Amino acid sequence: MAGYEAVIGLEVHVELRTKTKAFCSCPNEFGSEPNTNVCPVCLALPGVLPVLNRSLLEYAVQVGLALNCEIAPFSKFDRKNYFYPDLPKAYQISQYDLPLCRNGYLDVEVDGYTRRVGITRVHMEEDAGKLLHGEGNPGYSLVDLNRAGVPLLEIVTEPDIRTPEEARLFLENLKAILQYLDVSDCKMEEGSLRCDANVSLRPAGTDVLNTKVEIKNMNSFRAVQRALEGEVQRQRSIYESGGVVFQETRGWDEDRGITVVMRSKEEASDYRYFPDPDLVPIVLSPEEVERLRRSLPELPVARRERLIRDYGLPAYDAGVLTASRDLADFFEECVRVYPDAKKVSNWVMGEFLRLLNSQNLEVKQAKLSPSHLVEMLQLMDEGIISGKIAKTVFEEMFNTGKRAAQIVEEKGLVQISDEGELAGIVEEVLAAHPQVVDDYRKGKRKALGFLVGQVMKRTKGKANPQLVNRMLEERI
Ligand SMILES: [Zn+2]
Repeated sequence: MAGYEAVIGLEVHVELRTKTKAFCSCPNEFGSEPNTNVCPVCLALPGVLPVLNRSLLEYAVQVGLALNCEIAPFSKFDRKNYFYPDLPKAYQISQYDLPLCRNGYLDVEVDGYTRRVGITRVHMEEDAGKLLHGEGNPGYSLVDLNRAGVPLLEIVTEPDIRTPEEARLFLENLKAILQYLDVSDCKMEEGSLRCDANVSLRPAGTDVLNTKVEIKNMNSFRAVQRALEGEVQRQRSIYESGGVVFQETRGWDEDRGITVVMRSKEEASDYRYFPDPDLVPIVLSPEEVERLRRSLPELPVARRERLIRDYGLPAYDAGVLTASRDLADFFEECVRVYPDAKKVSNWVMGEFLRLLNSQNLEVKQAKLSPSHLVEMLQLMDEGIISGKIAKTVFEEMFNTGKRAAQIVEEKGLVQISDEGELAGIVEEVLAAHPQVVDDYRKGKRKALGFLVGQVMKRTKGKANPQLVNRMLEERI
């Protein structure tokens, strides 16, 4: 990036997991049969009146507070007028000049420095329906209005982000906060978390504002980072060859790994916003805001600090564990019973996360519970299984939900801690590797590790490694 720096701002839409929709009592559910969660209000039939869902307002205030925003004592809903077939009213209820929350920030830790990303605004609005193209009759488009009226928050950042990596980390942090607040399930693949990005490039160290390009259609955090990397690269080569970057909206093409033009410079979008006359303004007293502030759960940053303080965990571990509320809960549940926090952390961050990721599972979907892990650690402490066997046991527990003791019993994995049983094997290994034994005698300490490894191999990992060490040392 020599010579240029990126100026990136994000616009994030979050579907909230309220029980009912934003302005009517239809269920807010994903995946129902098309057009089953609808009523006259969300179908925009004549003569209906929207009524604000109290949970939407409370969730919005909580998100604003968690993002260090000012909460407006007075705010209102506006109609954003535009015509599109998935929008039956021909306007979307949104907030325009008086959003509920503004002037916040979120700090993001990136490789040893902190990037403070300003939050311009957080406002409430409703989602539109969904068009299904080419299903059933080719040449027809079908409209599903189940999503019409689903409550959304729009979170807009200042253009404070400087690298694609910062953008991804910002989103990961934001997602964690939303999940801690339990206001959204944040599933990008189901569209409950959607992100657009604005990106422009300027000579490093200046505060020039160059033409920005909007990128849409990024379906994962990884895709956001990759799309931004591609776009930064594209703009840089245009500037370097003396060209001009046009204001346009580009889509991310995951398969080809490039951004492609969706539409070029729109006419300054004129949505003809005006206050929604059907909805009363939102007036919040300081007491109500205070009540909601007190109702906030412990958030990721605070929990991370507490894990460091209370359990003496390294900052890195605490960061990994608290990135997900469920993972942090899992860890703390283990530690309540089994207080060796670092040992628990190693297993949770290591094997547990590895298996979750490889099978694409959420913490809550795992068959392995905290008590499974604790029981296994206790078997290790009692010398019944070795660390190596424990890995096998752990994976088996993860896949089957069986208890450690049962797996050890069924598979005959009990550690061999009997000197008599090991003596023969130790002698064999010594006899088979005279050169290594000689190296060790000449002071090459590492040679012992090789011999231990040979014994472990012959016992299929079941020998007690401390015992093997001692026996080898005695015999050489
Ligand atoms: Zn409805």
